[in-house]
Amino acid sequence: MERINLSTTAAESRTLREQIKAHSGVDVKDCYQCGKCTAGCPVAFAMDYTPRQVIRLVQLGLKDEALKCHSIWLCACCETCYARCPRQVDLAKLMEALRIEAKGMGYIPEKNVDLFNDLFLKSVEKNGRVHEMGLILQYNLQSRQFLKDATLAPKLFTDGKIHIAAEKIADNGAVKRIFDKVRNMGEEVK
Ligand code: SF4
Ligand code: SF4
Repeated sequence: MERINLSTTAAESRTLREQIKAHSGVDVKDCYQCGKCTAGCPVAFAMDYTPRQVIRLVQLGLKDEALKCHSIWLCACCETCYARCPRQVDLAKLMEALRIEAKGMGYIPEKNVDLFNDLFLKSVEKNGRVHEMGLILQYNLQSRQFLKDATLAPKLFTDGKIHIAAEKIADNGAVKRIFDKVRNMGEEVK
């Protein structure tokens, strides 16, 4: 892990905390660094900063370190940390707010995670639900991992887990309206 410079000012720290609170509703001041979130996180082993450390970066106003870290892209949003936290700090929401901010600033250290997220949402917007087959093909093509998980395909087909044609929901208009509403909310936040 890189060595980090702790010379942030109180003002920098407050600004970042308030920005995160406005975007996610999470007040990182609530965290008292007990580490229960990290102990239960199924992805902590792969992260550069553990969930507890990500919160600490934000508490200290270390914006660049928080926004450039891989952890915010590796978080699976499983909410295990939230369930375990004695202070009800919603880390998944915090990670999401940091991802949005990081992407806006062009910091995307896990490009394939970002690609997968975008393709997943596009598929849901188009069909009202995710079309797994289309998602896998698009992801493998665009991430240039052409044969990734290809050996699993026959079993998934025979088990009926993936279908060649997309199944659309009856009223896709409602889903599109949700996407439009979220986009408009994003404009308002800017
Ligand atoms: S479990 Fe909650 S209070 Fe404890 S370190 Fe994690 S976020 Fe902070
Ligand atoms: S929501 Fe993210 S940080 Fe929390 S336990 Fe799950 S993977 Fe870990």
